[in-house]
Amino acid sequence: ALGHDRDNAGSTAVSSGNLMVQAVSAIREVTPDLAVTTEVCGCSWTSSGECVLRTPTGRIDLDATYRLMGEMAVQHAESGADVVSPTAMLDGSVRAVRAALDDRGLRDVGVNPNLAIHTTLYGPFKALMTTDPAVGHRRGLQLEQGRAQRDTVVQARRWIAEGADSLTLQPVMTAVDVLVRLRADQEAPLVAYSTSGEWPALRELGSEGMVEYIAMLRRAGADHVLTFAAEQVAAHLEQNHG
Ligand SMILES: [Zn+2]
Repeated sequence: ALGHDRDNAGSTAVSSGNLMVQAVSAIREVTPDLAVTTEVCGCSWTSSGECVLRTPTGRIDLDATYRLMGEMAVQHAESGADVVSPTAMLDGSVRAVRAALDDRGLRDVGVNPNLAIHTTLYGPFKALMTTDPAVGHRRGLQLEQGRAQRDTVVQARRWIAEGADSLTLQPVMTAVDVLVRLRADQEAPLVAYSTSGEWPALRELGSEGMVEYIAMLRRAGADHVLTFAAEQVAAHLEQNHG
């Protein structure tokens, strides 16, 4: 587990000077022009590894979860984040985050919720962040693979109605069809998130192959691509196109 305390309430997620705040501030200091996006979710901070908080009887505690996400968003924004990403796929969470930011006068901070399709490709990230719940799973909140085209479009419209400025789809390697369908339905900026489990396969492509892969995602409808190859691709493009 990463070096911070975790409890049932995810308290460290909103403690002053926590790891996320330190990271955002450090990036801000070194590269003031870089856009910074943060994840707003309970799973890296709760002892259960769950994205949401629960009542003593085990139900999702909506009020407590919304409050946690809102407070996280405000804290990240005040540390320098330009965009915050509620990732739990919990209906109402985008509205709660937007409202919390607006209440603090942080109207220019973007909200970029997740469209997460259930996949084994989140595996390496979950292992690293210890976010694999010991009991149950978060599949109930994620989109089902077999219905992902329709369900993603429905969820995307819901997020926009709750106040989202842009949308992140993950994974992409096994969901390019969903990206195409989403693009046809949405004018909001779309981010294609190439997840941790895709990376071992993509790494084999090399720099030029990655550039080609990203071009394919752009063709399919992505305005932005989140990838572990960002540095490698940037260096390659700089070398080859001056
Ligand atoms: Zn989460």
